Amino acid sequence: MSDEPRLAPWAVERSLWHARWVGVGVAFLQAAVLQPSPWTRPYAREATAAMGVVLALTNGLVLPALRRRRVTRTLATLAFSVDCAVIAAIVWLFTDNINAIIWPLLMIVPLEAAYRWRFRGAVGSAVAGSLFYTIVRLVSSREVGYVVTPADFTYVAGLLMVEAFSVGGMADRLWHEREALQKLHESSLALNSRLEPKAILAIVAREAARVLEADFAVVWVVDDESFVPAGAYRLPPGFDSTLRLPMSDPVFGEAAATRAYETGRTTMESGHKADRESHRPFLEGVVLPRAWKAVLSVPIVSEGQTLGVLSCYMRQAHRFDPDEVSRVESLAALAAVAITNASAYERESSALAARKELDALKDDFLSTISHELRTPLTAVEGFATTLRRRWDDISDDARRDFVARIERQANSLHGLIRELLDFSRLQSGRFSAHGAPLDVSSMVAETVHRLDAQLAGHDVKVDVPADLVCYADPLALDRVLENLLTNAARYSPDGTPILVRAGIPREAGMAGWVELAVIDAGIGIPASEQARVFQRFYRGQSDEVRKVRGTGVGLAVVKELVEANGGDVSVKSTPGEGSTFTVRLPSRAPTVPAPEARS
Ligand code: ADP
Repeated sequence: MSDEPRLAPWAVERSLWHARWVGVGVAFLQAAVLQPSPWTRPYAREATAAMGVVLALTNGLVLPALRRRRVTRTLATLAFSVDCAVIAAIVWLFTDNINAIIWPLLMIVPLEAAYRWRFRGAVGSAVAGSLFYTIVRLVSSREVGYVVTPADFTYVAGLLMVEAFSVGGMADRLWHEREALQKLHESSLALNSRLEPKAILAIVAREAARVLEADFAVVWVVDDESFVPAGAYRLPPGFDSTLRLPMSDPVFGEAAATRAYETGRTTMESGHKADRESHRPFLEGVVLPRAWKAVLSVPIVSEGQTLGVLSCYMRQAHRFDPDEVSRVESLAALAAVAITNASAYERESSALAARKELDALKDDFLSTISHELRTPLTAVEGFATTLRRRWDDISDDARRDFVARIERQANSLHGLIRELLDFSRLQSGRFSAHGAPLDVSSMVAETVHRLDAQLAGHDVKVDVPADLVCYADPLALDRVLENLLTNAARYSPDGTPILVRAGIPREAGMAGWVELAVIDAGIGIPASEQARVFQRFYRGQSDEVRKVRGTGVGLAVVKELVEANGGDVSVKSTPGEGSTFTVRLPSRAPTVPAPEARS
């Protein structure tokens, strides 16, 4: 910490400049009203007026520097010396006047010195003032011939010292408070300059160490019952950012931080107590000597929730005074606000990024959908026109083939429109599942049969126990199966097998559930895309996928339908080997909570 007063020297000088004018006025007034008396020196009037002139000249000398707002140390010392000289001269002039107790004038000196140099200035000038007064009294007593006793000096010196200690102490205190405010302001600026929580936590640790002059500081956050350093400043060797400290461990835990975290209150250890706990080893795999003696831990709390703990460590024993504690607490409060703002910003930016991505996917969707509608329509139109124009020229077989193709295209259009309707119904929230117990085996058989044409190129096998029952909306389950089966066919080469398997899951704790899997040996889905395929409008990025026509809403519909029936859907896939889509549904109707017993 620098010893320079932080208050701008020109601001101090400006206040003293005004006070000096008051001094000038008083000097002239005294010169005007002074009556000659046997106790007054003959030149007292002129001398008093001259003091007024000296003070006025001093103000004239200081003025240009004040205007420029640049007061040098030399000028300030010069002005102070003139003030002291004037006061000393007046005390000397009137010290023999028993009608005028003149020594209180000396009290101005420690006041001015405290303003300029705080405690040291006040006490120094009080000592000098006392010496001066003693000398003046001794000299003048000899001149005038009256007896001075030691009590005359001790009284004045004592009062000057009392004044110096109180005024100097006050000046020091104000200076420290100003310094603390200044630091807090700087910390707040630093904290608000960043928006990433990680950077903010590092700044919090740095600023706390700076405010407290601590050896190092850490912001601990809790992860799985352990403290991890989310931000740190000057970590000692042996500590690193991968460190984990179990919270509740009596030996290796961080006791002060744990208490602060659990109670939501500031906690400290001064290191003065030679208690074992304060000096226990610090360990993470290796035993390290404890790197601190004193620690101050302040919880970082936002909206009633403890986000972490800010701990400042001192290598030497140290008693934290209430000022230090309140400074670190203010910093923790600032940090809480900055962290909350940063997380809100992060949430907003990721929501914005998600919205942007959705917009891009929607644009993609619109262009695919128009293409998807146009392609089968063009084919239908083409076959119908050929049939009309060349009905008599072509064979019965060819006509039958054309009609079958028209039918297939119409079916595909129908499927597409149904998919879009399902999607729009789900999106608008107009869908509600009407659950019923369903015989899984016959449901699967019916859907596979209905999709005969779409699955024609594949070897479809069904492995479902005869008495398996699930609880779902039959139409919804049909759509889910349809989407999964047609996807399996669309994304697999012709001739590959497709297996529909259902049963009760074998894992423990899965009683009450039915699992239905559609397994193909197709192109598979890269790991990076697996989480996204259920997102609406999302289509695979590979050329193989892009060759297949699609809208990107099929699996989004599957997910929403399954969830509306109280189940979930997941995918496991290996590119080049195939995919398994697994749907889990409840096997029974959800139990209605029993009505509360009436008393
Ligand atoms: P669409 O098939 O119309 O693109 P979906 O929502 O049904 O839309 O599927 C989204 C994406 O998931 C597809 O674009 C594709 O990349 C991938 N996908 C879905 N099912 C399979 C599957 N059985 N095999 C490989 N990829 C699949």
